[in-house]
Amino acid sequence: MSNNQLIDIKNLSFPELTKMLAGLGKETFRAKQIVKWIYGRGVVSFDEMTDLSKGLREDLKQRFSISDWTPEVVETSKDGTRKYLYRLNDQETVESVRIPMDGKDTLCISTQVGCAMQCQFCLTGTFGLTRNLEASEIVNQVCASLKDGPLHNIVLMGMGEPLHNLDNVIKALEILYLDDGCGYGARRVTLSTSGLVPQMFELAKRIKVGLAVSLNATTDELRDQLMPINKKYPLAELMKACKDIPLEPRQRITFEYILIGGVNDTRTDAKRLVKLLHGLRAKVNLISFNEHPESDFKRPSASAVDEFQRYLLDRDIVAIKRASKGQDISAACGQLKGKLEKREL
Ligand code: SF4
Repeated sequence: MSNNQLIDIKNLSFPELTKMLAGLGKETFRAKQIVKWIYGRGVVSFDEMTDLSKGLREDLKQRFSISDWTPEVVETSKDGTRKYLYRLNDQETVESVRIPMDGKDTLCISTQVGCAMQCQFCLTGTFGLTRNLEASEIVNQVCASLKDGPLHNIVLMGMGEPLHNLDNVIKALEILYLDDGCGYGARRVTLSTSGLVPQMFELAKRIKVGLAVSLNATTDELRDQLMPINKKYPLAELMKACKDIPLEPRQRITFEYILIGGVNDTRTDAKRLVKLLHGLRAKVNLISFNEHPESDFKRPSASAVDEFQRYLLDRDIVAIKRASKGQDISAACGQLKGKLEKREL
């Protein structure tokens, strides 16, 4: 999607862009203008940056390209959810999902091609990790979807473990936060991790972002099976990290809990979850497992979900049932493959 001889300017953080301009002997305040053109106005040619001198535009053109993504496939669900598939320069593919929520759309973006974490309930995990996405490849999912209208929230919950690609993810967040560009504040962006403990601390040290932890089990025995990363960072270590990580005054950690019928949806599980969350500023998202042919796991019964939620609410734990959107286009949680569906599009 970009000219290979040139550097994609969307891979530069603001400090890098400023430094590059200084290196060219240009005024560094031009960086703000460039950011405004690229991310604020969606311009994809230096020629359109009319408040830059012709000389600077030529210099930029000699060194940089501006990548501009168009999805190869867009599928729209009957509930309005849209799944975008993008083909990358090396022919790999990634997906993003745009989820309408009361007129305020959320975009779920990917951070890797595939994933190394092998969570048993997730299709992405079954393919293994192919490669990390570059910062520009993370940012471009947002830029491309913005052409379909404004996005209220961004969630890093698509393909990949964001903390397994920490440097590029942080750079992408810095770019998305730029006031003169997309202008997303940290409160509108949430990053979900399977629980890479050292990287969780590193993230908190380097950038502000909403944190979600994909929990899904309340014993090490079950979590080891569902999420092999638990063998490296077991529950006690993960929950201690959640307590120790500094939070903003009103910030809570979101715990995602995919309810799987007969696996982790009993009252005993709910009881253990309450115990695990004791002393934490937490909220829980309850997501019913989406059945698919590649998995033997079952969807929980509606009554099991209701009872699980009630148990948490009665103990003053914020617990929200998340409706799985986009199931008819395999855009729901854990269904992203980065591959074209077999059916006719
Ligand atoms: S749930 Fe997330 S971390 Fe786990 S395999 Fe899937 S993409 Fe990777």
